[in-house]
Amino acid sequence: MDNFIYSQPVKIYFGQGRFSGLEGILNELGIGSAVIACGKHFAPQAEKLVAEIPAIKGCFCRVEPNPQLSGAEETAALAAAVEAEAIIGIGGGSSIDTAKFAAAIAKGSQPALAYYRGELPFPSERLKIIAIPTTAGTGSEVTQVSVISNEKEKRTINNPVFMPTAAVVDPLLTVSVPPKTTMNTGLDAMAHALEGYWSINHQPISDLMAIEAVRLILENLEKAYNKGSDLEARTNMAFASLLGGLSFALPKTAASHACSYPLSEDYHLPHGEACAFTLDSLVKINNDERLEYLSRRAGLSGSEELAERIHSLKAAAGLKMTLEDLGEVRLEKLCSDCASHALMKNNPVKLSEDMLKEMFLNLKK
Ligand code: NAD
Repeated sequence: MDNFIYSQPVKIYFGQGRFSGLEGILNELGIGSAVIACGKHFAPQAEKLVAEIPAIKGCFCRVEPNPQLSGAEETAALAAAVEAEAIIGIGGGSSIDTAKFAAAIAKGSQPALAYYRGELPFPSERLKIIAIPTTAGTGSEVTQVSVISNEKEKRTINNPVFMPTAAVVDPLLTVSVPPKTTMNTGLDAMAHALEGYWSINHQPISDLMAIEAVRLILENLEKAYNKGSDLEARTNMAFASLLGGLSFALPKTAASHACSYPLSEDYHLPHGEACAFTLDSLVKINNDERLEYLSRRAGLSGSEELAERIHSLKAAAGLKMTLEDLGEVRLEKLCSDCASHALMKNNPVKLSEDMLKEMFLNLKK
């Protein structure tokens, strides 16, 4: 057994119906005033919360996928105007990441861009962060990561200032996720578990959570995709997503996430679909005894079957799978952007641009 340090500071409330206890949770956490950051799908419910829960003073309800810095700035301004002690991010990763960034800058006096670009450290004081996922995918509710865009530039910022105070994971909130988003986000959770597990920074407690996350996703993702109202599958996926987040929170992700950034920025793939694009190929590339062990513990014959199962999940949902699916591809640039991404250094196999080129050219339907 290696030496390790494990820490996980987020208080987690998990279970069907947990969200209906939000007022009690705010009380328990000593939060007397808060604002919400959410997207359009949750706006009507957010307005209702503002009307019904006195501690909730307002809502920024216009978070879009690939959330913009301007949205975080508006949320922070709203929080400052009502002297909020906390920001509640309700939604997919986009809303949670907006809430995190807003909470980090709300007490600052400098332009948000200066913090975003790392020209200034984040203010020493921040607001509390309550993260309430409505997709089963990002695990953002338990990570110190916020992914925010400034126009076309998309930055993944890893800073303790973004660690949520509490996560409220209620599978009932995920029932309305459309099938394709269910698949994208579920494969994002799979990528978190596998990448946390094969990251060069992996460690024993995270490994255990990764194995269980993969097992649950293999058992439940297709069910949740085929029948969104399947509460057992939704609950297992919400738990798997939470475990996925916990399994990469310390080790960080690796090659499939490194490749996802150019695939999202230049070819507009949603985050989960972009991670899944290379994930089955990377299972083959990164294969070793540990990955064989994970695959068998997850109920498979070995890692070859793991790669096949990921491939068939992508095919079932009609996700993009080959270079032809991306349209006109600038392959040299794609490979160079993937190879130079900071997360690539966490991958156990060192991938040159030539190896990446071969991987992309070998992608099959
Ligand atoms: P998302 O938040 O962008 O949401 C995708 C779409 O689904 C949106 O249109 C949203 O309105 C809709 N939606 C969300 N929940 C719904 C529900 N219950 N019912 C109906 N529609 C719903 O998607 P996501 O995949 O959850 O998050 C992706 C973002 O999170 C990306 O920006 C990604 O880079 C980031 N991310 C962050 C972390 C982290 O640790 N901070 C980890 C992984 C990904």
